[in-house]
Amino acid sequence: MNEIVEARKHNRAALDEQAGKALLAQYGVAVPKTATVSGVDGVEQALKTLKLPVVVKIMSPDILHKSDAGGVKVNLKSAHEVKDAIAAMAASPKIRGARIDGYLVEEMAAPGQEIVIGGLRDPQFGPMVMVGLGGIFVEVLADVSFRICPITRLDAQDMLAELKGAAILKGARGRKPVSQEAIIDVLLKIGGEQGLLMQHANDIKEADINPLIVSESGAVAVDARFILTSGGEC
Ligand code: ADP
Ligand code: MG
Repeated sequence: MNEIVEARKHNRAALDEQAGKALLAQYGVAVPKTATVSGVDGVEQALKTLKLPVVVKIMSPDILHKSDAGGVKVNLKSAHEVKDAIAAMAASPKIRGARIDGYLVEEMAAPGQEIVIGGLRDPQFGPMVMVGLGGIFVEVLADVSFRICPITRLDAQDMLAELKGAAILKGARGRKPVSQEAIIDVLLKIGGEQGLLMQHANDIKEADINPLIVSESGAVAVDARFILTSGGEC
């Protein structure tokens, strides 16, 4: 909410990752605990509030795909490793020329299956919500399921059941089954009657939680991006 007002005030077309996660948290979606630092100097202080291991991510309005730019380092186990990661990022060719807002240091989510939850504003139907399995399932196989908002719990269940890769969630091929309830809960918090997309239908053009990491017991949104509508009205 405030995040959207803030972004508009600064004429930004999108929420940055931190603002996006703050918006998700307001709707009850779990996000990792984070701290921000402007460089290596703040690392010790930041780690006092976080549990190791952590992830470091570049914060830049110029970099949308952080991994592609070398802007994500996971599983860092000490202040030393965090500082090395920040120094390496700051020096890397794709990051050197970008505007840098700082570095996000965040706790690692419990291991699990990566899911994508998205949203868009259809000119005809209004807010729509999407779910798919992460990685190649979305990018190569386009195995996704869409609904017009608001969705009910039954819709959310159907959306998951409809995925060709649905068996993966149930623990196919020796994987552990993940909590489908946790995914359904997040789908409702995003696409349900009181969900984020309905509540901000005039402001949000696109939403992308990529990934939501789902374990046997819960789901954490570790990356979030919201693109705002141009006007702030219909
Ligand atoms: P981008 O999509 O911009 O490249 P992400 O923030 O999605 O960057 O991070 C890239 C990948 O790193 C994620 O898909 C996920 O596999 C992993 N990752 C990121 N943050 C976390 C986290 N907090 N816990 C565990 N894994 C993470
Ligand atoms: Mg991502």
